[in-house]
Amino acid sequence: MKRALNFNAGPAALPEAVLKRAEKEWLEYGDTGMAVMEMSHRSKEYEYINNTAQQMFRKLLSIPEDYEVLFLQGGASLQFTMVPMNLMEEGKTAYYVLTGSWSEKALKEAKKLGKAEIAASGKENQYKTIPSLSNIKPLTEGSYLHITTNNTIYGTQWHDIPAGLDLPLVADMSSDIMSRPLEISNYGLIYAGAQKNLGPSGVTVVVIKKDLLARSKDSLPTMLDYRTQAGSASLYNTPPTLAVYLLKLVLEWAESLGGVKSLEKINQEKAGILYSAIDESDGFYHGHADHGSRSMMNVTFTLDTEETTKVFLEEAKARGFTGLAGHRSVGGCRASIYNAVPLEHVEQLAQFMKEFSKR
Ligand code: PMP
Repeated sequence: MKRALNFNAGPAALPEAVLKRAEKEWLEYGDTGMAVMEMSHRSKEYEYINNTAQQMFRKLLSIPEDYEVLFLQGGASLQFTMVPMNLMEEGKTAYYVLTGSWSEKALKEAKKLGKAEIAASGKENQYKTIPSLSNIKPLTEGSYLHITTNNTIYGTQWHDIPAGLDLPLVADMSSDIMSRPLEISNYGLIYAGAQKNLGPSGVTVVVIKKDLLARSKDSLPTMLDYRTQAGSASLYNTPPTLAVYLLKLVLEWAESLGGVKSLEKINQEKAGILYSAIDESDGFYHGHADHGSRSMMNVTFTLDTEETTKVFLEEAKARGFTGLAGHRSVGGCRASIYNAVPLEHVEQLAQFMKEFSKR
């Protein structure tokens, strides 16, 4: 089998080494006589997988004990609801910085649950730029400020994270978690679906500062209250055992490469290769994001006409590149180059882009 040159936006490429290890353990995990999916989530073997995944995640991203690490279900989309449900405070506003469709969706859910307002927005500028900190509405009294650190659809990323705010910073990190070091003390809560940088879909990681758990009210439905899984090591009910097992393998793979700093270096190199292919094409490819807001994870670009874009995508597909069409809401092209996308695949794509533009 030839592995695809996979540039999917999520679910996305997984490290081949992880898939091979999972294949080896597919029929039997350890000497249990059964597959991971067949084991009780109350068994000591699964408890080990769950605890190790949590500890490795903490270690890789330097998350201290005053934060809880939760493995939940429902995707990042359920966090659009759980965040305001748990963190909104009586009489206070929750603020959202709009940097794309996902932050719009997060705001929409918050508005259903209480007072939520836009703190800054890049919408008038087709979401090409992350608003600068000085444009974010003065914040003194809010419940929290919500940002989306990487905008999967538009290909923009925050490079200057607000720090030392008077209110908790909440971040949707679905598409850039573990792609670069994280200064967790800047945040009250972060969340991410696993299916881009952490593993397969099915598990959502939430990291919450322990003191914020006091905001959750007893009237909340049990499964929508962060305290429920925080109080039971994310084992209150049946967890997505296969997804957590694969998350653990991905974390072990990340550590074997030298951890998050090493991943960031490789990611910078990969993104640099594609942005150079765009910038050195004499305008044949146009990058969507402004330079200072470019994403290291999702490289978005357009070609002059829809017809050329179509031919580009067709030829790319014939050469084995998959997942390069832009999101249906914006068109154009997008190469998602998460941690597991090999450098060689990125080099091959840049080479193809150069050849195509020449022709
Ligand atoms: N936020 C961001 C930044 C995303 O990229 C996505 C999915 N592409 C979501 C939220 C929604 O995630 P999920 O499908 O896990 O609910």
